[in-house]
Amino acid sequence: MDVRELYQSTILDHNKRPRNFRVPEAANREARGSNPLCGDQLTVYLRLENGVVEDVGFQGTGCAISKASASLMTEAVKGRRLEELEQLFERFHALLTSDAMRPADTEGLGKLAVFSGVREYPVRVKCATLAWHTVRAAARGDAATVKTE
Ligand code: ZN
Repeated sequence: MDVRELYQSTILDHNKRPRNFRVPEAANREARGSNPLCGDQLTVYLRLENGVVEDVGFQGTGCAISKASASLMTEAVKGRRLEELEQLFERFHALLTSDAMRPADTEGLGKLAVFSGVREYPVRVKCATLAWHTVRAAARGDAATVKTE
């Protein structure tokens, strides 16, 4: 499969059957994100324990790219330490904002690499990065609703 086909089939699959599309039990962090350009709105929930993402989920509505990206984000950050989450954010963001004419630097991104295809559609970059901005805000507690038990 070439990159474009892989991109399309991954987006379609995760849009149709989003992973972790739920509020995790005992979630202790959450943040809301919205992308007014497209109308994407989502809430990301985390259960953090000792600096590790023990569980993650999301809810919301949006286009196929925003939903697929949120779904893949949850798979990518689950079980990671907060520092790793920050690193993944940086890599993913750098990939999506890099020049579409140059080869994509997808090192360490695993399945997330399919989003290099989004570089060809600049208006869609915000759809793809929304879940990442939101999960980072939740992890940091920035402008997030921090819940206590
Ligand atoms: Zn969108």
